[in-house]
Amino acid sequence: MRWTRTLIATLRDDPQEAEIVSHKLMVRAGLIRRLAGGLYTFMPLGLRALQKVSQIVREEMDRAGAQEILMPALQPAELWERSGRLATMGPGMFRLKDRAERLMALGPTHEEVVTQLIAGEINSYRQLPCTVYQIQTKFRDEIRPRFGLMRAKEFIMKDAYSFDTSLEAADVSYQAMYEAYVRIFNRCGLSARPVEADTGDIGGKWSHEFMVLADSGEDGIVDCPACGYAANQERAERAVAALADAACPPVAEVATPNARTIDDLVAHFQCGAERFIKTLVYLVDGKPVAALVPGNRDLNEHKFKRLLNAKKVELADEATILKVTGAPVGFAGPVGLAIPVYADQSLKGASDRTTGANRADTHIVHVDLARDATVTAFEDLVIVGADDTCPHCGKVMQLKRGIEVGHVFKLGTKYTESFEAKYLSDKGQSELMVMGCYGIGVTRTLQAIIEQSHDADGIIWPVSVAPFTVSLLLLDPKDPAVSAVVDTLEKALQARGIDVFVDDREERPGVKFKDADLIGCPIRVVAGAKGLAKGGVEVKLRTSKAFDLVPVEDAVTAISKLVEDLTAALNR
Ligand code: ATP
Ligand code: MG
Repeated sequence: MRWTRTLIATLRDDPQEAEIVSHKLMVRAGLIRRLAGGLYTFMPLGLRALQKVSQIVREEMDRAGAQEILMPALQPAELWERSGRLATMGPGMFRLKDRAERLMALGPTHEEVVTQLIAGEINSYRQLPCTVYQIQTKFRDEIRPRFGLMRAKEFIMKDAYSFDTSLEAADVSYQAMYEAYVRIFNRCGLSARPVEADTGDIGGKWSHEFMVLADSGEDGIVDCPACGYAANQERAERAVAALADAACPPVAEVATPNARTIDDLVAHFQCGAERFIKTLVYLVDGKPVAALVPGNRDLNEHKFKRLLNAKKVELADEATILKVTGAPVGFAGPVGLAIPVYADQSLKGASDRTTGANRADTHIVHVDLARDATVTAFEDLVIVGADDTCPHCGKVMQLKRGIEVGHVFKLGTKYTESFEAKYLSDKGQSELMVMGCYGIGVTRTLQAIIEQSHDADGIIWPVSVAPFTVSLLLLDPKDPAVSAVVDTLEKALQARGIDVFVDDREERPGVKFKDADLIGCPIRVVAGAKGLAKGGVEVKLRTSKAFDLVPVEDAVTAISKLVEDLTAALNR
């Protein structure tokens, strides 16, 4: 492909809307263009890279035995009613009506469609296991679309779904997908780490996310360097030492005018935040429930929601708090509270603590939780972070940031129940199929590659996903001898299956060098009158500063060797 015949414009300055480096680079290198918030057009170079990522995903899905299908993005809302997700998806799902006033959705995901499909197609254990996948556009009305392709309203996902006869068989399908994911991200040159993850609204018991570590990542990952335990912060657990609090005197009220927050209380009582018991009143599917955590910790709403098997968990409004505690916001406490009270496990045995008195401007001291309050259950409720100890080995953990590029779930029978997806077993019995689902954000993965692989000058593409393997710079387009060398090289490389992008513009060499670095193809070849006079073309890797002057007749062999080496390094 030739620059002068390609719809490409590189930009010198960072686009205003871009906050993170990969987003800036994608726009500056002319890979994507913004239509509106969360909506992007793929330009020719961007599309080539995207297609290479898609192809790697496709090859590995096929290799793992999954079959490619393509389902409609437009789905009848009825299906979502049937699974019970029409309510839980909320405004994140694009809804519309057809001309007959039937409610439709633009698919944010396809569990419903695929389960209904399989329920109709499979009826015998002989047809199982079965895994299908598609690479398709998904729609999600994200609250905050941002970071370019990372969180878009319309994006490309590879979603796969497995159907099995039993939980054990489903584990085998899950493992096959897990291993395919490891291979996919390796082949894309990405270092992506599997971590334990929350299952959220999709349901199911167990899941792993594949995370690309990056400071710009939206997810917190708790990581134990000692034993390898790693989990999304939404799910991460910690080891808790048993408390050895001494007995304390009976509770006593203390006036605390206007001291509502833990900071206010620390200032008032002159002690550490951990001496307080924070009491949070929540509405759990509309009913008030209290959660207790140590004053220096935060409640993990994902854990709380999962614990209570709730559809919706939200902090109670002022009126509810006044009604259930008898006090304005900031003075709630577990003593005498007549709603269910769940406490973090680290508060088991807590004594001589301070907490709200359920009376305005008042706290109580000398609280012994077991003695003075009724706790429904002690559970793991807090957000785990840096310096917490590993639940497996007890060593200190670290907190990192990550970009979720893939997610694998064991779903069990949640959807096969809703859609009566059953099969006849070898004993002639009708049984529910056991399901798994597996997503990869293809467009997000593409951008994550850049987030992980770039320098101050631009993108550094892994050879497997680069829009072109070789950038061939024609420095003197008007010199017929140089043009002839470039033509020959271009054709010879193409004949070897190596894709080449020829910069044939009438631009200064400096401009071409800068753009080649920005676009970031792995190998740069420079053909100019000066170099040819010295004996050949300059061949250089994007990752190194120095070039080799290679005689024209040896160039193709030398470049092929570099491509082989780069490819081998990726597949190692
Ligand atoms: P997130 O937590 O980032 O919102 P999710 O957990 O809702 O993502 P899944 O339902 O697991 O996403 O979707 C599978 C994959 O699709 C994700 O791992 C991610 O790579 C990608 N993805 C999800 N939402 C978006 C989006 N708005 N833009 C681009 N990619 C996305
Ligand atoms: Mg996810």
